[in-house]
Amino acid sequence: MTPLLERDVHLFDLDNTLYHPKNAILEQIAPLMRRFISNELSISIEESNALCDSYYQRYGGTIRGIQLHHSSVDLKQFSDFSHQVNLDNVEKATQLKDALHAFKKSRYVFTNSPLPYATRLLKHIDLYDCFDGIFSVELTGYKMKPDPHAFNTICKHFDFEASDAAFYDDQLSNLATAKALGMRTILVNRADIEQHDACYKTEDLPNFMTSLIK
Ligand SMILES: [Mg+2]
Repeated sequence: MTPLLERDVHLFDLDNTLYHPKNAILEQIAPLMRRFISNELSISIEESNALCDSYYQRYGGTIRGIQLHHSSVDLKQFSDFSHQVNLDNVEKATQLKDALHAFKKSRYVFTNSPLPYATRLLKHIDLYDCFDGIFSVELTGYKMKPDPHAFNTICKHFDFEASDAAFYDDQLSNLATAKALGMRTILVNRADIEQHDACYKTEDLPNFMTSLIK
């Protein structure tokens, strides 16, 4: 039996985890964030780029830095504007859908993205009905992954212990917090990373999930 199957709750990051990074959706979001912040703070695009990058590195998400350091910015407007992405070329996740439906564990989406975007994207790739719930960034008060607050909050929200959970994500910092709290961790879609502390690694989540139940 695969040790992962001892875990009753499986938490999945959304961006670049439930869909492949080749879809380049985050690459659409970043320029929109930068344009919005440039306009709101009356700074150049170059200054906005540097600011957004520094907040992303420091807090795990640009919006957390904006919340902490620029209280004049309307976070909902910022979030709505920056997540107006074109999904026309993003395909349905048919194999992953089948694998998730066959995987008889509690399944939640755990994302640093906002709920309207997460809902739209999950519906587009046809995974919306594969989960028992979506835990989006609003529920953390924007104190998002990798902050332990986000992990402790999702545990309380869905009433489970960290030691009951497995966590799938493409970011090492998020996986590090999860592991420190007692979760099993799976690094997803990072062919560029060889050295890591995750319990498992896969560049093919649909096959990984399928192999768990065989
Ligand atoms: Mg991600």
